[in-house]
This record gives sequence, structure tokens and C-alpha cells, in this order.
Amino acid sequence: MRRARPIYLDHPATTPCDPRVIDAMLPWMQQQCANAGQSGHAPGRAAAAAVELARTNVAATLGLHDSGGVLFTSGATEANNLALLGSSIRPGEVVVIGATEHPSVLAPARVLAARGAKLRIVGVDHDGRLRLDELESALEGGAALVSVQAVNNETGVIQPVAAIGAAAHAVGAAFHVDAVQAFGKVPLDVHGHGIDLVTISGHKVGGPQGIGALAAREPARVRELAPLQHGGGQQLGIRPGTLNVPAIVGLGHAAGVLRTSGRDEAERMRSLRDRLERAIAGRLTGVTVNGGGVRRSPSISSITVDGIVARDLLEDLGAVAASTGSACSGGAPSHVLRAMGRTDAQVAGSMRLGIGRTTTIDEIDAAAELLVDAVASARGRRRTRRLVITA
Ligand code: PMP
Repeated sequence: MRRARPIYLDHPATTPCDPRVIDAMLPWMQQQCANAGQSGHAPGRAAAAAVELARTNVAATLGLHDSGGVLFTSGATEANNLALLGSSIRPGEVVVIGATEHPSVLAPARVLAARGAKLRIVGVDHDGRLRLDELESALEGGAALVSVQAVNNETGVIQPVAAIGAAAHAVGAAFHVDAVQAFGKVPLDVHGHGIDLVTISGHKVGGPQGIGALAAREPARVRELAPLQHGGGQQLGIRPGTLNVPAIVGLGHAAGVLRTSGRDEAERMRSLRDRLERAIAGRLTGVTVNGGGVRRSPSISSITVDGIVARDLLEDLGAVAASTGSACSGGAPSHVLRAMGRTDAQVAGSMRLGIGRTTTIDEIDAAAELLVDAVASARGRRRTRRLVITA
């Protein structure tokens, strides 16, 4: 059957806004539009109350006891920047991150290093899990901040967050977790795992693009952050600027939906992911599921297919919208797969297939068939080329 639009399997890059979220947002762009900073009139006070309700919802879904630690930002990139650059790291202090962090953690960590911090980047094993022995060595002599993602955005691999948090706290370091790909899909115990600061993003969970949050377990920690922007008193002056009320309401609503149905939805995604992997690996030789042996997010599958260039294959195919890595890496070869010890050819042969709320079994079956056929013909073309060249 010809499809009008490609099968969308790039949900880790962004996933459609949930219609329930859109319904919740619309009034705040139309009839109830007001600046949440205007306490002098009823519409302004209503907008401020809607923002506080969203803050409470986000805090509740994160399992925080107090919503006072939640700061809304323009997305997770800003939240990660605020967590690292706002943490007032002094020259000579140690900052520890993982080798497979998202660019929005890697880049500010390098800025801190350029300002005199000692940056230690901890490697991962073949499955993409942080090497805890390397982490221990990196923390020897103390550290100011440890920042590690809960779930990798390219492979879905879940990091041992509790062990990392315990190691960080043992040397008195603050622990920041980029939980963008984990939020609502993978259990995250902010209190139990000793997470001091956590980053989330709206557009990965059925909320709109351009909204995220940095949340602190203890509200007092938020007050210690140095602002990256200046010029307004909103959000304690730590993240000033007119609050994006519709988007904040959307993120709050999406967080509420995750609380009520996130677990069931994660199970549904897991069964679709497994079905997709079985269909591809069952019909093709030379397929490796990256991180296949360890705990992974239900919504992300990273597969390496021998003998193909995934970017060319997906571009030629067109009918499946998937990616070869993170949308935030600007098309550079995956630093994540490299850190996991993959060769250049393996990196080139890798694609990320991402499942979301709108993904159906039909789409999974059709995508598997399209991908298997595309791989078979790409391999066939390579073989023919080799025969022609050697003839
Ligand atoms: N961290 C991770 C793990 C991500 O996957 C992303 C989005 N690709 C971000 C941070 C950045 O999120 P945002 O698009 O909200 O800036």
C-alpha cells in the first residue's frame, strides 16, 4: 500500500503534541491570554495560577515533594546549560560527565573547562553503560558536579543512575541528570537516586517544542544557581523572561498524562520496539541491536546493519522517517557509538528507530518490511558493483 506520508519513527527527536495537550493549551493563546507576571488584573493572576498548576504537575510526575524547585526554560538545551554553567564552578574544581552525553551537556562542560574547571569525561562499555570504575577514579580527590543522562538519546541505554548518584554524593559533588529521554518512560527516583538537579523537555513527551524544565530536588538549590539571562524578576530572577504560558500549561498537562498512563504506554512501546527488532533481525543477517543486552528505554532502538550506509539507505527509501543519530549533532558521526567502541563502518551502518504514542503495529510491520527490502537491495547493489569492478 502506498502511503501519503513516511512512517514516522523519529519520536526521540520530537514526538507529536498530544491532542489533549493542545486542548489544554489553546485557551491560553486565545480567550485567556495574559502575561503571568501581571498580578494587577484577574487574567494575569489566572495565567500565574495556571503556571503554578503546571509546576505542581511536573513536580508530581518527577516525584518531587516541592514544586518550588521547578524552573521552566525554553527546552532541555537551556536547562542543561543552566545546570552546568549556572552551578558556579570555580577554576580548578572538577566536573565529571559521561562520554555519551547529549551535546547540550558536552558543550557547556567544555565551556566550564575553558574557564578553568577540570573536566573529566568518563567512558562507557560496549553496551553504552558508564564505566563505574572509571567514574570512581574520576571522582578521586573530590568533584563539584557530576552530570550524566538517565537514558541515551541515540541508543536508549539506561545509565546506572543510582550508583552514579551514590558515587557523586560520596565525594560531596552535586548530581545533575539529563532525564529528557527517561521522563515518563523509565522509572526515575529523584529522591532515592540522590538526583539534585534534573532536566526534562516538553516535545519528547507529547508537549510542545520550545519548553522544558530544570528541577531541583531541594528548592534551595535552585536559588543557588547563577542566571544565564538577566533583565527580569520572573522565576526568582534565575530564569527571567516572560513565561510562555501556553507551552508551560502544555508541559504540565503532558506531565499529568504521563502520571496516569505513562507506564501502560511505555509497555505498549516496548512491545512495538521488540516486534520491530525481531522482524528486522529475524530476516537479515549482520544486524546488531546496540545496547541489546542491557536495560533500555522502550521507545528507542539503535541498530547496526553490516554492509550499508544508513544515511544513504534512509534517504533513498524516504518512506521511513528515522535518523542516523541525534538531531542535535548536526549530522556529525555518532560520538555515542564511537564511545561504545564501534568502527567507522559500524557507525555509518547504524540507524535509530524511535517509537511514540502515535506508532501503530501496522506501521511497525510496514517499516520493518520496507527496511529489510531496502537493506537487501543496497547489499545487492554493493555486490554487483564489486563484481563489475573485479570483472
Ligand atoms: N538531552 C537529551 C538527552 C535529548 O535527547 C535532547 C533532545 N534531542 C536534549 C537534551 C535537548 O532538548 P531540547 O530539544 O528540549 O533542547
